[in-house]
Amino acid sequence: MHCTNCRNGLFKVWRLVLILLLAVQFLGVGMHSAAAQPADSADRVLVINSQPYTTEWFNSLNDRFVEEINRLQPSELKISYEYIDGNIANDPAVAATVIEFLKHKYQLRQFRLIIAIMPSGCKFLLEHGDKFAQGIPQLYVLPTLQQVEKISSRPQAGIVQSTGNAILGTLQNIKTLLPHVRHLYVVAGAGADDQEYMARARRYLGHEKLYDQVTYLSGLDTTELVHALSAAPKDSAVMMLTYVANRQGQPMTTVQVLKTVTPLLHIPAFSFYDTVFGQGIVGGNLTSTEAYGETLAAAADRMLSGEQRFFVMTASTRYMYDWRQLKRWKIPEARLPAERQVRFVEYTVWDRYRWEIIGAILLIALQTGLIGLLLYYRKRQAQLATTLRQINAQLEMTVEERTKELTDSNEELTAANEELRALNEQMFAMNETLDDLNRKMAAEISEKEQLSETLAEANRKLKELDRMKSMFIASMSHELRTPLNSIIGFTGITLQEMSGPLNEEQKDNLSRVKRSANHLLALITDVIDISKIESGRIDSYSQTFSLNELVKEAVDTIQTQVEDKGMVLEVSMPAEVSMFTDRRRLLQCLINLLSNAMKYSESGKISVEVRPLKQTVELAVSDTGIGIAEADLPKLFEPFERVKSHLQVKAGGTGLGLYLTKKLVMEVLKGEIDVQSIQGQGSTFIIRIPARVEEGRAAL
Ligand code: ADP
Repeated sequence: MHCTNCRNGLFKVWRLVLILLLAVQFLGVGMHSAAAQPADSADRVLVINSQPYTTEWFNSLNDRFVEEINRLQPSELKISYEYIDGNIANDPAVAATVIEFLKHKYQLRQFRLIIAIMPSGCKFLLEHGDKFAQGIPQLYVLPTLQQVEKISSRPQAGIVQSTGNAILGTLQNIKTLLPHVRHLYVVAGAGADDQEYMARARRYLGHEKLYDQVTYLSGLDTTELVHALSAAPKDSAVMMLTYVANRQGQPMTTVQVLKTVTPLLHIPAFSFYDTVFGQGIVGGNLTSTEAYGETLAAAADRMLSGEQRFFVMTASTRYMYDWRQLKRWKIPEARLPAERQVRFVEYTVWDRYRWEIIGAILLIALQTGLIGLLLYYRKRQAQLATTLRQINAQLEMTVEERTKELTDSNEELTAANEELRALNEQMFAMNETLDDLNRKMAAEISEKEQLSETLAEANRKLKELDRMKSMFIASMSHELRTPLNSIIGFTGITLQEMSGPLNEEQKDNLSRVKRSANHLLALITDVIDISKIESGRIDSYSQTFSLNELVKEAVDTIQTQVEDKGMVLEVSMPAEVSMFTDRRRLLQCLINLLSNAMKYSESGKISVEVRPLKQTVELAVSDTGIGIAEADLPKLFEPFERVKSHLQVKAGGTGLGLYLTKKLVMEVLKGEIDVQSIQGQGSTFIIRIPARVEEGRAAL
């Protein structure tokens, strides 16, 4: 109560002062207008402003407006300004005084446009304009919503507004930038416009419910404000509205308040217009005084150019932030809206030279690393050098040892070399000897070759001689056989006593003659045959004949003698075997073998076995005679070879029988002969003759 009384007292004092001021002005204007008669004809614009001229906001807006309108309008405008304190003007008596004052002040001047700024200014013009400026076009800057409705019903009126809702935008932006904030302090002056803005903020916050708790502080002095806000919890923020006057009605400016208060606060402050930007607030969705000034000039230009119907022009807001405050309250730039301006960027040395510093640190680190590496390598090098020296020493020792070993080996090698050289020389000498020998051998070989040729020649001659000899023997034997036949014939006749009786001695002698003659004839016959064979002139005549008959014929020749000896003769052969070969020579061979079997056997039996095989006929003549020693077997078929035995003389013989038989078998009959014998037990002679053999009938 006490305080309210104080405020009322102060208000009365201010009212008195204002009336006095107006009275002084009125007197001055009166004197001046009297002197300035007739009326000033220049283009005039009246600006009614509820912001004190001390506010940076109004000055900034006005500067831009004046500059712009003078650029737009062809002739220079004369602009008059009237400050209407909103609180005071609400008093009807004061308002009436002010209107009176304005009437007197501007009675002779013709305004082309009246501009009202801020809600209180707009209110004054809306309520009292007709009383002092009827029919003059009116332009309202930043009216309230209710005022807009009233203005729109007027014929010659325009409005300048802000595009976005800067207060609501900022209130929402605080929450985005500082999500932890739950407690908001809304601060405003006690002026009429201040309260208008406070009322708007209340409306928005009541509607949006952005914060858990909201505290409204109105018209406090800076000291009071600091005191009030210092008790604020940490999760708080300040929304600074306008500050035109304190509770005592004393004019104040928002800039003043912010400058004094914000450095002492432990919580961030925000606001909604750019005049206070850079004075301690973080930022927000800010209206721009310059934008207002420009828009106001454009709107004024339109009205001055004759546009009279109601219209609205808007000035844009923008998100602006004080870089220093962002840093102070640790607000990351990522939380800022995309379209924003960040000013007062003060880069720290780190911010400014971050990459250079990082680079330098990296460089130093690199250098340090390199130095470390260098030192490490040096150390390693020293270690290596030591190791190397050790290895070298070891190597030298090893080399020394090896050299010694090598020298020893070398000496050994030299000795070996010497030996080798001596050996080489020996070998060389041997080689020469060998060469000599070779030469000699070559000479001998050539001699031998010559000899061989001579021998071959001699052989040829010998063969020729042999042939001639055989021919000679053959012809001689033939010549011998004729007289021998007559000797044998006549001896036989004489022995048969056909030519007279003979005494025993004569008979015996003649018998010896006949035996010798027969032996000689046989010998000659054999010699003739051998000669014929050796000279290649033996006759051969192949025919088909009965082997059975041939065997019988051969057996018959010895039958009597066998029986005389008391021996047995056996023949074993298939019933009918015929073959194709030289019959006479085969018979001769068989008789020879049978004759031998008979001659060299004293008892037992003689057997003939005929075995016709696939391609050959095998004739085996076996006896149980004296047999032949194994050592004598190879000699049997040589000419004139006879095996010594007790029967040698008794049997008689030439040693040509088997030789001739073999020759006949091999060269005439194209067969082979073989013998198996056991001394004292008997012998078997086998002839194999190739022949076309058929059993049962004669072959063709
Ligand atoms: P030889 O006219 O002496 O009988 P061969 O040439 O017919 O001459 O025989 C040579 C020798 O072979 C004979 O002297 C005899 O010693 C021996 N010989 C031949 N056939 C028989 C046989 N069947 N048994 C024992 N010895 C034989």
